[in-house]
Amino acid sequence: MILMQGAVRPSPSSLTRFARLTRHLSFSNTKRSSIPVYSYGSSGSRLQSNRIYADASLQSNSSVQKREKITLEQPEIIFMGTGTSEGVPRVSCLTHPLKKCPVCSKAVVRGNKNKRLNTSLLIRYPRPSGISNVLIDAGKFFYQSALRWFPTYGIRSIDAVVITHSHADAIGGLDDLRDWTNNVQPYIPIYVAKRDFEVMKKTHYYLLDKSVIIPGAAVSELQFDIIDENPFTVHDLKFTPLPVWHGSNYRSLGFRFGNICYISDVSAIPDETYPLLKDCEILIMDALRPDRSSSTHFGLPQALEEVRKIQPKRTLFTGMMHLMDHEEVNESLLKLKETEGLDVQLSYDGLRVPINL
Ligand SMILES: [Zn+2]
Ligand SMILES: [Zn+2]
Repeated sequence: MILMQGAVRPSPSSLTRFARLTRHLSFSNTKRSSIPVYSYGSSGSRLQSNRIYADASLQSNSSVQKREKITLEQPEIIFMGTGTSEGVPRVSCLTHPLKKCPVCSKAVVRGNKNKRLNTSLLIRYPRPSGISNVLIDAGKFFYQSALRWFPTYGIRSIDAVVITHSHADAIGGLDDLRDWTNNVQPYIPIYVAKRDFEVMKKTHYYLLDKSVIIPGAAVSELQFDIIDENPFTVHDLKFTPLPVWHGSNYRSLGFRFGNICYISDVSAIPDETYPLLKDCEILIMDALRPDRSSSTHFGLPQALEEVRKIQPKRTLFTGMMHLMDHEEVNESLLKLKETEGLDVQLSYDGLRVPINL
């Protein structure tokens, strides 16, 4: 791993300042064990549980100051987004003069699981120094995802971002990280492959080369750590890259952490990656559409073939477009449990799953 130029290391004084700020803005002490539901839905009890977090984020400093920090007893993953690049609903479906899109018209209803923003996953796990929040990808819709789920689940800091590839739905939100580095923490480490860092030099040139910005302009303070296809460690958590094809001649990375394998953008898995997927407990896998694969993404039939080959204990699909109806597809997937013993379901934005690391 190489620390790239343009990286920002905090000065001791700025760290002290942010530590003080964190104490003032800590959230209520609502233990995870007191919340039985690991999902966000439309039922009253779920809303009740999650409202605790939403309310906590709206407290004034003086009342929040008396509260203790949230504790986290078990690591968990939170799906920040589970949709394709354009998101669901599609604007063009909602404005169509003649046709009513069944999925997009459902997706506009608050709490409906067909509403999907760009694929992204947050890993939360306890460490002796506190909770670590490691994000996989910050795409075009990162701000909306964070706005929706950070207050809901009492998430404050972003301790690192790990990048799968350099398409806009994976890196388009890097600029929005300025809110964190201006107001929450001094900087955010970004773990990115060299080829994707080269793309960022063009798409986010002002975040990599601070000499081009007007002095005093507050852009994201990012520290770039270049990864290759070998394992690397982020805040004591080992990540093993899972190299895959995302279209011909374009490489994307999935990541394995613990026994969780995350592959959000894939059209083919090379032979050498399969051994890295052995004994996978939860596989999170790209499944764009119900009928067929595209040139850059698995469709559901191919994704299911891969599940049969990889044999994870449980699979959650992600990256779905508007042709995937959450309830309908999940109902048909449920049948595979009876017929083949496959535990496969579509994920949805805001889904929380406890994990073992
Ligand atoms: Zn639609
Ligand atoms: Zn992509």
